[in-house]
Amino acid sequence: MNLNQGVSGRPPYDDNNIFAKILRGEIPSRKVYEDEFALAFHDINPQAPHHVLVIPKGRYVAFADFAATAPDAEITGFIRAVGHVARMLGFEESGYRLLANMGPDSHQEVPHLHVHLFAGRPLGPMLAT
Ligand code: 5GP
Repeated sequence: MNLNQGVSGRPPYDDNNIFAKILRGEIPSRKVYEDEFALAFHDINPQAPHHVLVIPKGRYVAFADFAATAPDAEITGFIRAVGHVARMLGFEESGYRLLANMGPDSHQEVPHLHVHLFAGRPLGPMLAT
């Protein structure tokens, strides 16, 4: 049974997506942080003065399959990594925004779960119209 497909309604995980290639070191990235469960790196096309992507190392397309199928340690590890990156980069006081796109309506481009971390200026309204 393909849990990814069943849970998220998305296609199965594609090992050739760009973040899988970054995780395997086949495509370079500007690394910010890495641990057992997560990798954080600068977005190639930043939308704010600081735009970092945090991704779990496991093979998850979106939040639904991650939340439903990842072992507790991976979920905890990933969430802790997101918080750690925000603290490490010094955004706690000034603030920052986390955003995760899931599926077509959100314009998710890369089918590997990722959280965008934006910071470094007032970030405007929550959603672009
Ligand atoms: P999504 O639209 O899926 O939420 O966001 C995907 C993000 O990945 C985009 O902000 C895009 O700029 C970024 N991105 C796409 N390809 C690469 C790449 O090869 N390297 C890096 N660092 N970021 C990428």
